[in-house]
Amino acid sequence: MRIDVITLFPEIIETYVNTGIIGRALKNNLLKVNYVNLRDFSNDKHKRVDDYPYGGGPGMLIKPEPLYNAIKELKNDDTYIIYLTPKGNLLSQKKSNSFINKKHLLLIAGHYEGIDQRIIDMYVDEEISIGDYVLTGGELPCLVMLDSIVRLIPGVLGSNESIIEESHNDNLLEYPQYTRPEKFMGAEVPKILLSGNHKKIKEWRRYKSIENTIINRADLIKDNKIIEEFMKLKKTYK
Ligand code: SAM
Repeated sequence: MRIDVITLFPEIIETYVNTGIIGRALKNNLLKVNYVNLRDFSNDKHKRVDDYPYGGGPGMLIKPEPLYNAIKELKNDDTYIIYLTPKGNLLSQKKSNSFINKKHLLLIAGHYEGIDQRIIDMYVDEEISIGDYVLTGGELPCLVMLDSIVRLIPGVLGSNESIIEESHNDNLLEYPQYTRPEKFMGAEVPKILLSGNHKKIKEWRRYKSIENTIINRADLIKDNKIIEEFMKLKKTYK
């Protein structure tokens, strides 16, 4: 997979993708990431990329020409173009999973009041929001999305089980986890995790996972069978 980012701040993208797990994935050639500075594609002699919105209103907008020039340079037949915007579809684990087989993603980070609508209408395949709030620029949203996709590429994480067992995979949140020491400031690790009984540990984790979801994100539970399962498990693990 190749992921390109069009941004006004390539240094933000560069620092993040060359660090930690993603940095290691790049070194191991599990993917390619390329970031370009939108100003390099400006026709303006001062490298300006923004202008006032027609019809008035606050702030500035990114002009269509530099974006068009950048897209023309980066796009090929396999390219899927995503504009990160608070107006888009909400990013979710399911959504990130749906991008994993794309050969080439081209992410556009907006700034100011956003980008000219004609670029969205003509070139953008999908608009994605990372949440119901507004940030100053699209770099963090691009990185959030990039990170959530890259960790799904086989070989990027040490163990594929991490992906299967974590929050949002099954529309459930993850169960609580503990590490050494066994007793910390008087609080003990639940006995069942020390029992060595893997069947019981799995059941307890499932119970806690459903419990966490009911408490924090009841909206994720769409199937009544999950509640029935929880009530059954509650008899043993309450
Ligand atoms: N005027 C825009 C609106 O009301 O929808 C907000 C523009 S925001 C200040 C500037 C840029 O930050 C956007 O073009 C977008 O790329 C990025 N951005 C801000 N919040 C975002 C979010 N929740 N999800 C994705 N991108 C976001």
